[in-house]
Amino acid sequence: MSFAQEILAKVKQKDAGQPEFIQAVTEVVESLELVLQKRPEYIKHKIIERIIEPERVILFRVPWMDDQGNVQVNRGFRIEMNSAIGPYKGGLRFHPSVNLGILKFLAFEQVFKNSLTTLPMGGGKGGSDFDPKGKSDNEVMRFCQSFMSELFRHIGANTDVPAGDIGVGGREIGFLFGQYKKLRNEFVGVLTGKGLNWGGSLIRPEATGYGAVYFAAEMLATRNETLEGKTCLVSGSGNVAQYAIEKILDLGGKPVTCSDSAGYIYDEAGIDREKLAYLMDLKNVKRGRIKEYADKFKSAVYTAVDPKLDYNPLWNHKANCAFPSATQNEINGKDAANLLKNKVYVVSEGANMPTSIEGVNQFIDAKILYGPGKAANAGGVATSGLEMSQNSLRYGWSREEVDAKLLGIMKSIHKAAFETAKAFGTPGNLVNGANIAGFLKVADSMMDQGLV
Ligand code: NDP
Repeated sequence: MSFAQEILAKVKQKDAGQPEFIQAVTEVVESLELVLQKRPEYIKHKIIERIIEPERVILFRVPWMDDQGNVQVNRGFRIEMNSAIGPYKGGLRFHPSVNLGILKFLAFEQVFKNSLTTLPMGGGKGGSDFDPKGKSDNEVMRFCQSFMSELFRHIGANTDVPAGDIGVGGREIGFLFGQYKKLRNEFVGVLTGKGLNWGGSLIRPEATGYGAVYFAAEMLATRNETLEGKTCLVSGSGNVAQYAIEKILDLGGKPVTCSDSAGYIYDEAGIDREKLAYLMDLKNVKRGRIKEYADKFKSAVYTAVDPKLDYNPLWNHKANCAFPSATQNEINGKDAANLLKNKVYVVSEGANMPTSIEGVNQFIDAKILYGPGKAANAGGVATSGLEMSQNSLRYGWSREEVDAKLLGIMKSIHKAAFETAKAFGTPGNLVNGANIAGFLKVADSMMDQGLV
């Protein structure tokens, strides 16, 4: 049994009920086999065993009252995964599917991603099984206040700095920040994704989507190509998807799909700027469903999710590029095969771990330009890091300055993943490149800091 197999066997036994966490660890540990052959000191210091164990897991009750006066109880979490290179940093997810295993996978990925950004941030993730869908603003506020009434004692600008994720956008961050400020009586950069009037950074809302498209452009540049004229499939219609669509348009591409959990639209004519403005209003203000896009624009066809299908038809259209930007495991083996069959040769992951291991292996074998989430979507947390810097400086950079820094960071992440993949004998394999480049900095820092 190889070292990686031994580790995986232990994880499968210990964390049996956490399939997403096992999946994330499997992918990373397989890449790290290449490192361990060259750096056996990591084995001696049990760096892998330590890096897959969270430094701390916080689990708490979140009671709140709905608009009808009924008591509701949700579960809150914060996984403080690794602080070797900086304070814990990573988003909060509010979605009914949230559980310990999902948050551990996200926190684990975050450790490597944050390391890749070149900024001093450790890894963490948190959230709740609370579903903001269909809740009034007042209900969301009461929930956020109750959630923060426990979380505040565990976080801080130099300890742990949460941000948004699925179900947590500007509205939720506002309520969370307000409650933190009240309880601590201090105005500090303890959360990122804040409003511009109260410590937020320009470009933070755009950053994950923009970054995933910048990453695709970098991958294409290695083949002397650009996004100009390329047809792009996008999934999701939230924060990441919206700004991925905007940046695809900026760079001359043609986005033709987007989705929510009920279905997807295919707009053969392309989602142009006017349609994107409608989509943003539909999702961010009216909080409506994607089906309404097809009611409004006759060029679009809506397809509802069919639970009987073992593939997602969104990934079965002729295109050049794909930007999965909804959720984990939204591209399974069959979807990956459909993408390849339809001549997609650029996949840049806006979402975290959107492709199953079977799908990833197909992309690697086909030698397409495949940017794994922990590299391709790192622009969001990188810009959160820039928000932290601006908060520390008590200063705000211009839109152009932050965007230029974001672009620079995405280029350097691509370069690090690309060159590391080559240095470890798997040129073009950005999964290995990103996993190894992210790992080395954290592992060496852990060794420097002793057995803690
Ligand atoms: P949002 O909540 O803004 O949007 C999520 C979108 O994905 C919605 O359209 C939602 O549809 C859809 N979706 C969510 N869960 C499911 C599901 N189980 N099945 C089908 N569709 C689903 O979240 P974000 O845009 O912020 O996040 C999207 C992805 O990007 C996530 O994987 C997240 O972890 C990742 N990410 C986000 C970052 C950020 O800065 N926000 C940073 C890095 C990664 P519906 O409304 O119907 O639920």
